[in-house]
Order: sequence, then C-alpha cells, then structure tokens
Amino acid sequence: MKKSVIYLLYSLLSLTAYSQQMKVGIFTDIITKKINFAYNEGSYSVFGDSTDFGAILQDEFVEVKFISDKQIELKIGVENKGVFKSIRLIETKFNSSLAITPSEPIAKQRKYRNDIEVKTSAKGLVIINNVDMNNYVSGVVESEGGAGKHLEYYKVQALMSRTYALKYKKKHLKDGYELCDRVHCQAYHSMVRYSKEIDKAVKETENIVMKDEKGDYVDAFFHANCGGQTSDPKYVWGAQVPYLNSFKDTFCLYTKQATWEKRIQKQKWSDFLVKKYNYPITDTIYGPLLYTFNQPERMAFYQSPKLKIPLRDIRQEFKLKSTFFNNYIDGNEVVIRGRGYGHGVGLCQEGAMRMGRCGFNFLQIALYYFPGVVITNISNDTFYDQSGDLFLCYPYKLDE
Ligand SMILES: [Zn+2]
Ligand SMILES: [Zn+2]
Repeated sequence: MKKSVIYLLYSLLSLTAYSQQMKVGIFTDIITKKINFAYNEGSYSVFGDSTDFGAILQDEFVEVKFISDKQIELKIGVENKGVFKSIRLIETKFNSSLAITPSEPIAKQRKYRNDIEVKTSAKGLVIINNVDMNNYVSGVVESEGGAGKHLEYYKVQALMSRTYALKYKKKHLKDGYELCDRVHCQAYHSMVRYSKEIDKAVKETENIVMKDEKGDYVDAFFHANCGGQTSDPKYVWGAQVPYLNSFKDTFCLYTKQATWEKRIQKQKWSDFLVKKYNYPITDTIYGPLLYTFNQPERMAFYQSPKLKIPLRDIRQEFKLKSTFFNNYIDGNEVVIRGRGYGHGVGLCQEGAMRMGRCGFNFLQIALYYFPGVVITNISNDTFYDQSGDLFLCYPYKLDE
C-alpha cells in the first residue's frame, strides 16, 4: 500500500475515534436513592424528560428521588414537579458547575462541571456527568495526582488519563455511561479545585495521546514509585506489552516512597511458604534460605522460578508495598526491606515528578517510561518528538 493511502486511512480512523465529550458515572460507589443539586457557578436549566422547568436560582435546591426503576421524582425548591424517567441539568453557559450532595445515603458533597443526567437502574439512581474532555481529565489528574506538583508532571498525567479515557470508552456501556468515577476506571472525585497548574497542563496537552505502533491507544499504567527499577508487565499480569520493559530508573531513588521496612512473625512467614507453596525446607540449597532472600534486580519468584512462589502472592498475603524486597531474620521476626510502592509497571509517579523538577518536558518523561510509544495529536494527526517539535513524517514502520 502507498504511504499516502495508509496515512489517509489512519486519519479517517482517528477522526471517528476523536471526541471531546465523556459520559462519566459519578457516585458509583454507592446506591443513591435521593440526591440534591445546587447552583455553584454559571447557569443551568432543569428538565424532567422533555419538559423545561427553567433556570435554577442561586439559593434553590433541586431534589431528585428514586421511586422505581422507571420513575424519578423531581422537586425544585419546595415545589413537587412530578415523576419522570430522566432528569437533566443542562448548562446554559459553558463551564458552569453544580454542587451535588447525595442525601440517601448521605455522602460528601462534590462539585462537577457541565451537564448532569439522572436515570434509574433496578436499585437506584444512575448519575451521569456529561463532561467536556478537558474538564474530565483535569478532575482525574487532581484526584489521582494531588495538588502542588510540577507542571510537566501534570502534563504527563493528563496525557495518560486522556489516553486511558479514549482507550476504555466502552468499559461501562452496559451501565449507561462510558467510565466510572472509581479507581476501577480512573478516580474522578470532582472538578479541579486546588490547582490552576492542572488546568494549564490539560490545556497545553489538549488532544495529545499515546498510541502504540499499530495506532491503538496505549495502556497507560502508572504506580507511586518503582524503587529504582520498573517491572516487566509479565511479572505482574503474566502478559507481555511491547512498549513496556523493565529498566533501571534513577529518578525516584531518593524520594518519599523509595524504601520501606516491615517485620513479620517468623511462624507466619514459614506457614505461608511451607503450607501453601510446599517450600522445600529439607533441601540443602533452598532449605536454609527460607527466611533470607536477596533481590539485586527485580525478580518474579521467591528464590528461584523452580519453586513457583510468585512474589506478587507474598506481596498480597503480607500487604507489602511492592514485590521488590530483600529479607533476613532477626530473632523471631523476618525483616522485609523493600523498595518502591505499587506494581512498578509503566510510569513511576515520583520519578516523573523529579524529572519535571530537573527540567525534562512531558514528552521526554512519557517517552522515558514508555519508550516504544508514539505521541500524537488526534485532532490534526501531528506527531511529536522528545524536544516537543512536531514532525510530520509518518512514524510507523512501512514496508516500502
Ligand atoms: Zn469503571
Ligand atoms: Zn522509579
């Protein structure tokens, strides 16, 4: 195939996948029976099915109550407006926001931008935020990354959250929305509240995503701290990912979560390894090593793959911060000395923060942790190299 034909096909595909809106299920960790909406900024109109009840006043509450799987009761102020299949709060000025508070069960108030739609499931209300992509990504970056970080770090998180959102848009279609607001998809607990830097990072990376060499969105994994070496995805999930390999990361070595220690009762340790995994305590080589283990580089199994004891099972059993640890015995206890926090695959957040502070740009940071990916703007099909310069050549391998 000619290069131009492939390029055209690719462009058409990207345009169809390109969208600026997300439908996100919110308060999905509870089954909501009653919820209140109040004006926060901008202006809104309230709809019960197709009936327009006009604007929400500044000091007015809108109360929405679950009656049955097809009926929702709507109250505006003290007035009962009747029963509907769906309630919509539609902004009449772009970037308005609402303060939303579940009252049955009671949950903490959160603020969201753009439109809200309330529908029903068999058990309760389904609350959906129809949100501009930039607002969604900002909310996720703040919920996942916290406030007060470096701009280039926020830009990498924005790039990753946007890529995730587009890759997994169909994850919750059966629930009536695209993504949920829990870590199951990406934590999205509110509109951005604490950091103007986050909004700036999202704007400056607008429409930019990471794709693999086939043109599919990348699985943008991240974790708090890799402990000095990232994990091979096959150690964690048993599957290889072409753009992710294990490598030495020096940027996170002296950060907050770089090292940790935990002590475990000797008996508990041996019970777990011997009873559950038949650890060969009588073996002349492995027997004496029951409590002593050194891991100069990340490994997948305790002592040897021959023993078939996955480190991830030990991590889970003893609630360790990572699988990257050494251990030795001290009296009645096994001392675990570990490095890093999390599964170790993909972007190391503390390493990325440090790279930002050291003067690397978000493209350099992203390509450091995801070396085989292509960074592209999906609205105009331009590609970026590490310096941030655009390059307009076709980035994939072609058999010419
Ligand atoms: Zn989800
Ligand atoms: Zn790291």
